[in-house]
Amino acid sequence: MLVTNATLPWLDAADSSAGAAGSPVSPGSVDLRVVDGVFAAIGPSLPREPGEEVLDAGGRLVLPPFVESHIHLDSVLTAGQPEPNRSGTLFEGIERWAQRKAFLTVADVKERVHRVVRQQAGFGVQFVRTHVDVTDPALTALTALLELREELAEWVTIQIVAFPQEGICSFPDGRALMERAADLGVDALGAIPHFEFTREYAVESLNFVCALAADRGLLVDVHCDEIDDEASRGLETLAARAYELGLGPRVTASHTTAMHSYNNAYFTRLLRLLTLSGMNFVANPVVNTHLQGRIDSYPKRRGVTRVKELSEAGVNVSFGTDDIVDPWNPLGTGNLRDVVHTGLYVTQLLGHQEITDSYRFVTTNAARTLHLGDGYGLEVGRPASFVLLDAGSWYEALNWNAPVLASYRRGRLVARTEPVHREVLF
Ligand SMILES: [Zn+2]
Repeated sequence: MLVTNATLPWLDAADSSAGAAGSPVSPGSVDLRVVDGVFAAIGPSLPREPGEEVLDAGGRLVLPPFVESHIHLDSVLTAGQPEPNRSGTLFEGIERWAQRKAFLTVADVKERVHRVVRQQAGFGVQFVRTHVDVTDPALTALTALLELREELAEWVTIQIVAFPQEGICSFPDGRALMERAADLGVDALGAIPHFEFTREYAVESLNFVCALAADRGLLVDVHCDEIDDEASRGLETLAARAYELGLGPRVTASHTTAMHSYNNAYFTRLLRLLTLSGMNFVANPVVNTHLQGRIDSYPKRRGVTRVKELSEAGVNVSFGTDDIVDPWNPLGTGNLRDVVHTGLYVTQLLGHQEITDSYRFVTTNAARTLHLGDGYGLEVGRPASFVLLDAGSWYEALNWNAPVLASYRRGRLVARTEPVHREVLF
């Protein structure tokens, strides 16, 4: 297949700049040749070969597939079951989920997740990192997700994080459950230091998880300091372990909303360690603006981590959806455009170049977090996975919520949308 007249943002594999600030985008119309599911050539005006199928992009934007770097698939579509989260806080969400968790079945989880993964596919998402609650002696949700990871592998890459929603040191047999999850074949290990009973448990849980991940060769993705408490400092421990154990970019800190409330002197000192560690960050700007600041009067904190400062320091940051119609978010579709759109406002990243570069939060930066390596990207020799948007640039796609007209995975069409036709009658 030959994709002609595609507009590409400039994607330099050697470019390590994170997110919004940094390198320029050089749009230009190019062709992409796909042979046996791999990009065989990318360049201007490639000669058409006899009998070759042609997809004329008509100057529209082609991006690598969207990457969902943080979601909880096990809880999707459970909002209000058995009761809604009335306070809108993270902690009531955990209580509501514990009620719903009591009657999970493998079939129930699989049915809901399957629906949402297909929804995401329609928005051009082909890679998903999901956290799965393992504070369940039966590991029901994990069983379901492990099955789906295999069953859906040709359509979507699912990465599973063993997520101890109710703690590791503060939950009965928490450590053993994490070890069982590792035995069962998860991709990454999580932790939740701000939910542990004590600061000591928080530190202990992070030490435990980093050591286990190093031992088993797993990635780490911690729900880290998702609270408005400026004294919540699990991040420094996580970063220190990432640095000392040499785990570096294999470690991700998700949420880190307490960083929003850190004093600048502490943050400035911390930033040195974060940079040294080489770890990644995931912000969930939609859900955290909903969950955080709930017990503030006024002014109310936005509760989103310092995306701008981290990005400017060269730290890799991506954006995630976190939740779809569950105890932590009553809304959500899985369209990562919405996450970027809100995220740019909340983090005040609305300079022209920042907007232009912001596709990276849900593509290349997220791919780095997931360690997709050579399995991702618009480059010759890599799998021919890409999305075609109904817009001439990311700026336009973002502003107009342009649909993903086609999503190809290893050269195969996995989802398509008809362009919207709108008439104004005056
Ligand atoms: Zn989360």
